[in-house]
Amino acid sequence: MYNNPGQQRELARPYRKSLLIALLLITFSSGLLFAWINLGRGNVVVAAAELIMAAYSVVLYFNIRRTQRLELWAFAYLIPFFSVMMVALASPRSTMNVFVWVLLIPMVSHLLLGRIKGLVLTVIYMSIAAGLFFWRFGDDPEAMQPVILANIGVLTLCLTAFSHVYEITREQSERRLVKLAHSDVLTGLPNRAHLQSRFEYEQARHQRLNNPMSLVLLDLDYFKKVNDRHGHEAGDKALQHVARLLKQRLRKTDLAARLGGEEFCLLLPDTDGDQALLVAEKIRQQLAASPLTFGEHSITLTLSGGIACFGEQEGMELNALTRCADKKLYSAKSAGRNRIALAL
Ligand code: GH3
Ligand code: MG
Ligand code: MG
Repeated sequence: MYNNPGQQRELARPYRKSLLIALLLITFSSGLLFAWINLGRGNVVVAAAELIMAAYSVVLYFNIRRTQRLELWAFAYLIPFFSVMMVALASPRSTMNVFVWVLLIPMVSHLLLGRIKGLVLTVIYMSIAAGLFFWRFGDDPEAMQPVILANIGVLTLCLTAFSHVYEITREQSERRLVKLAHSDVLTGLPNRAHLQSRFEYEQARHQRLNNPMSLVLLDLDYFKKVNDRHGHEAGDKALQHVARLLKQRLRKTDLAARLGGEEFCLLLPDTDGDQALLVAEKIRQQLAASPLTFGEHSITLTLSGGIACFGEQEGMELNALTRCADKKLYSAKSAGRNRIALAL
């Protein structure tokens, strides 16, 4: 449904940037703290890795505040962070309780990278951590007790499963919210915001392919009379009736939006003015020939339309094209309604 999904995603996930910034601040302060502790214990390699990670988090902090490509920076943070964690786990001087840090991996990966990339990173680093655990403590009967292994294993699995399921449901609600924000409640058609984002996508495609594109404005004729004679409910049913017809008639690549009131807009990619006129004429004729049944009433609806062609003459921006189509729509209304105007 969305044509610039990257942008949609970034808009819908502002929390990821805040989360990454919070993690960087924590990494910086805990990196300094643990480097100091490890230096005191003579664990120089791990202390050096922690200091480097603290310095790196400062560099990332200043880049992340400005970036549009958060996911790349999330990888740039997570891979060194988890790798330093693995160095600490592998160090013969670190104790077994350092392994509790591993429990951060599923949560942080899923929150920053989403369910698929988050799961892949979790599986990779969890497997390395498990390998390191057996390598270091495999011959320690105390650590190899089944109850300890079962505790660690089940807890790790639970955290991974919860993070993954949480991310799936969060993504579903995110999709629902974005869809709601981009559609008209009464008819279910895309709204003006959706039209704008689709138009920007088609505009960029036009720059590459130089394909024709048309915009058609449609407005129901004497719609106020429908409301006045049959009531607002009949008016609403009429709008849904028109929306159904538009959905049926258009190609998958076309877009029909409700701009508000009884005004609809068709965005027809790869369609020149003459072809757009054919499409709009078919819709006009079909609407006139299929009255709405409301109770015992049969309400005949008609519409008028104006067509604007994407290009230097009529407009390269949505506002300019809409203004041009609106002028033609007005001329169709003045000429008697129930007609489509391609020229002024
Ligand atoms: P014209 O042929 O010149 O377009 O005349 P018209 O009556 O269609 O145009 P006008 O702009 O005078 O009236 C539009 C009407 O559309 C007025 C308003 O009550 C009705 N309307 C707008 N939105 C809705 C809606 O969501 N539901 C219903 N039932 N009516 C609506
Ligand atoms: Mg009208
Ligand atoms: Mg109107």
